[in-house]
Amino acid sequence: PATFTYQFDTPLYKGTSSFSTGIFIDGKFVDGSNKTTIDVVNPTTGKVITSVSEGTEKDVDLAVEAAQKAFDTVWGLNTPGAQRGELLWKIAQALEKNAKELAALESLDNGKTFMWALGVDVKSAIDTFKYFAGWADKIHGKTIETTENKLAYTRHEPIGVVGQIIPWNFPLLMWSWKIAPALATGNTVVMKPSEFTPLSALRATAILHEAGVPNGVVNLVTGYGNTVGAAIASHMKIDKVAFTGSTLVGRKVMEAAAKSNLKNVTLELGGKSPNIIFDDADLEQAVNWAAHGIFWNHGQACCAGSRIFVQSGIYDKFLASFTEKAKAIKLGDPFGQGVDQGPQISQIQYDRIMGYIDSGKTDGATVHLGGERHGSEGYFINPTIFTDTKPDMKIVQEEIFGPVGVVIKFDDPADAIKQANDTSYGLASAVFTQDLNRAIETAHKLQAGTAWINCVNVIDVQVPFGGYKQSGIGRECGEYALSNYTNVKAVHINLGHKM
Ligand code: NAD
Repeated sequence: PATFTYQFDTPLYKGTSSFSTGIFIDGKFVDGSNKTTIDVVNPTTGKVITSVSEGTEKDVDLAVEAAQKAFDTVWGLNTPGAQRGELLWKIAQALEKNAKELAALESLDNGKTFMWALGVDVKSAIDTFKYFAGWADKIHGKTIETTENKLAYTRHEPIGVVGQIIPWNFPLLMWSWKIAPALATGNTVVMKPSEFTPLSALRATAILHEAGVPNGVVNLVTGYGNTVGAAIASHMKIDKVAFTGSTLVGRKVMEAAAKSNLKNVTLELGGKSPNIIFDDADLEQAVNWAAHGIFWNHGQACCAGSRIFVQSGIYDKFLASFTEKAKAIKLGDPFGQGVDQGPQISQIQYDRIMGYIDSGKTDGATVHLGGERHGSEGYFINPTIFTDTKPDMKIVQEEIFGPVGVVIKFDDPADAIKQANDTSYGLASAVFTQDLNRAIETAHKLQAGTAWINCVNVIDVQVPFGGYKQSGIGRECGEYALSNYTNVKAVHINLGHKM
């Protein structure tokens, strides 16, 4: 397979990156079975950076075979947890050693700023391996009392070969959120990164291999969703699929799982998260966090605080400061000094977001700020704020996945909670107030897998993350993630009960 070599010469990072763009199966990079490739585009310029192997169904079969062999011989029940933990820690260290290069690849391929990529994506990916390294030798069941002549206990056993499909918005972080808990619990992996952002996963998989992960334990098949992704979801020899992406595709993955071998499914899907700001909130902090909530990662965050409900007493002041904050966001080259916001990921997403902005205008909402393209090349969209919306408008109901927030005025707290919950999604939510009782009461009433109080979009690997309603099934991160990758076996020992 081809080698991609890139020379970074930017104000924030200088260095060379060089790695294979093939498919990674059984510890080797190889060409895809039909030798075709997929172009990878730099969203900052719209120009092709390189191309990577286009995997096929046959490549998924080969990857599953390698993963099964590794599970049966060098991983799974063959390797003690402590040893797996040690290896996960080594992966973390190896990623750490290459942190800047990985961040640079993420910026090049995804368009997120180098500083955020380094400080959040890469750092959190490293933390994820360290965290799950600690769990690897602490995975155990319970002894259970029944009758005096019985000993019963449970074992938390690895599932076997697990399939993992990830999106483009946090390519390396999602790679780590999937691989680390799967390996900690003793599974082997067949993963497909997004066709839009395969570079950091390719480089990180090579790093993981260099850190000593045995051949076949992690396999990476680059390719399209309707071929490689679908083959993973419907594979008869994959017993679990973990998917992060849109609700639309999540539904397809679950359907394919049901129609094939009823494989276990976890889904991390989209959101339309509410952010409720009460009159008594610390205004400056609420403004800062609300802007981070919707504009961070260019609005391409599943948990983005895209519906901002503001109580009438501070509405005008909030809107004025929030607008100033949004205006101050500096768009540009993600490697540029002081740049806050890079491009959207692709022409498709750019068009989709512009389509939502048009629909908001047509439906009668007010474009309070932005709404237009930034610059003349790449996929940049100015931070956009809508006001005067109605609850049933598309821009209020649907996930836009861009730097577009709606600001909604409310009087009655109960009405704000009702509107906040009036969505098919339930990923995250936030509340800003200095009244502890109100904060907790509101957080408990919001139908979402995460409720932030006086903050938004803060994620820690120690804390579970996932959705209510159509935002998903299961939880990633924290101890909860372990159950995604283990089967519980109940063992009954007869201590003398005669038949
Ligand atoms: P997407 O659903 O289009 O694609 C996600 C992955 O699924 C990609 O690798 C894609 O190739 C693959 N895929 C596409 N069709 C498939 C099929 N038929 N079968 C199997 N796989 C298929 O999503 P995206 O555009 O890459 O990412 C954006 C979405 O991801 C947003 O909706 C966002 O909210 C969601 N997301 C959720 C979380 C979370 O933790 N809840 C995190 C990040 C992103």
